[in-house]
Amino acid sequence: MNTCRSNPIIIMGGGLAGLSAGFCLTEAGRPVTVFEAGSEVGGLSRTIRHGDFKFDLGGHRFFTKNEETESFVKNILQNDYLNVHRKSKIYLQKNFFDYPLKPSNALLGLGLTTTMRAIADYGKEKMKGLFTRPQHISLEDWVVSNFGRTLFTIYFKEYSEKVWGIDCKSISEEWVSKRIEGLSLGVAIKNALFKFTGRKVPTLVDRFIYPPRGIGQISDRLREEIEKENTVNTSTRVREIRHKDFSITGVSAQNCEKNYDIKGGEFISSIPVTHLVNMLSPTPPQSILEAASNLRYRDLVVVTLMIDREQVTDLTWLYLPEKDMPLGRIHEPRNWSPYLVPVGKTSIVAEYFCFQNDSIWNSSDSALADITALQLEQLGLIDKSEVIDHCIVRVPKAYPVFEVGYNTYYSKILDYLKNFKNLHIAGRTGMFKYYNIDHAIESGLETAKRILN
Ligand SMILES: Cc1cc2nc3c(=O)[nH]c(=O)nc-3n(C[C@H](O)[C@H](O)[C@H](O)COP(=O)(O)OP(=O)(O)OC[C@H]3O[C@@H](n4cnc5c(N)ncnc54)[C@H](O)[C@@H]3O)c2cc1C
Repeated sequence: MNTCRSNPIIIMGGGLAGLSAGFCLTEAGRPVTVFEAGSEVGGLSRTIRHGDFKFDLGGHRFFTKNEETESFVKNILQNDYLNVHRKSKIYLQKNFFDYPLKPSNALLGLGLTTTMRAIADYGKEKMKGLFTRPQHISLEDWVVSNFGRTLFTIYFKEYSEKVWGIDCKSISEEWVSKRIEGLSLGVAIKNALFKFTGRKVPTLVDRFIYPPRGIGQISDRLREEIEKENTVNTSTRVREIRHKDFSITGVSAQNCEKNYDIKGGEFISSIPVTHLVNMLSPTPPQSILEAASNLRYRDLVVVTLMIDREQVTDLTWLYLPEKDMPLGRIHEPRNWSPYLVPVGKTSIVAEYFCFQNDSIWNSSDSALADITALQLEQLGLIDKSEVIDHCIVRVPKAYPVFEVGYNTYYSKILDYLKNFKNLHIAGRTGMFKYYNIDHAIESGLETAKRILN
């Protein structure tokens, strides 16, 4: 008998990447064991239940350009999904503007003088580009060169620094140049002022698929399918990954009732790559541990307020880029699916980008609920007395931080991990990539196919 085929495939992390891999391998008749540290599957794409209310960790819209991935998700959901119309706004200089910005909005927002300066700046950078090839190291270099300094200062600087928590000079150009379509404000401005493109870019599509009971429904369905043949252990954290001669031999995992010491043939990791490296036993060379300590993730605090009113806004998202507001974005789940709130009530979910040593992360739940209620009141959205309940979720490692120079450390870790022939890394936190749902699913499926082949 082929021992590799009979040995279970161990999947570390039950987010969308790990579960998609598990689903594909289960369908192929392979034995699979999933270990997920959280009490539910889904990772960043899970849906929280709080009484009769449900909410995502920041509204999660599913959109893909890949038809296969779209069919995969629709099939998993057994065609139980809604087609949601996207309608968003951005709050700038004390005004709410349609988002993406329209040319008239941009003009009103900036005023004529600033608009003229922005256009002149943009032209200047384009002219410069005709004669010299600009050197881009940071986000700031790239954006100034592509949009001009006026637009960088007004639209990019504050929001980028709010999201990433570091100066724009320290955010790697590699990230922004690849992700400009995801840097939604940039696309908005480009479209608003310069009408660059008529083609559909992902952030600007106006309809998207959404499961009626929250984005976590995709993960719950994947789990259900895997569990027809195999095991998914939630609340079970992988603690140690043993290896010999560059082959992974087994893992130790633990929950409050049981310790697992399990051998396997192939190992898929979608847990943060920095944790993976630190769990290897024997420990990797010091230089690899040091490289891992130089990679950082940005954390997130999600504050949900339950409101005694049927509806507060008709929006999908409201972006809050300005520095003096601690929160970065809000959404109202009932506008994504009416099944996420009880009849006659609504909720508002606010996202605070932070690091774990920040005051926001360490504030008490009630303080966070109070700050959020106050902010929403100041925006004219609610009256504080309408808040009937709150629920706070602290989300570690929500975004990989692409600091200038990160790639040197990342490549070093990757080169080392490549020596392990039966270890496969997948997913957003697992691969330190700015993956969305579709990419996370695709990376899980590709990993499974690689193992099957
Ligand atoms: C605020 C926010 C909004 C987003 N909005 C969108 C959106 O609108 N559209 C979109 O397409 N994408 C969105 N995304 C991205 C999307 O959430 C991710 O791409 C996707 O969920 C990543 O899945 P994953 O499986 O790769 O990683 P994760 O979800 O991070 O899964 C990793 C799993 O590993 C588990 N784990 C960690 N350590 C251990 C351990 N030691 N043992 C066992 N398990 C462990 C974790 O608990 C987690 O469940 C958003 C992300 C954020 C943060």
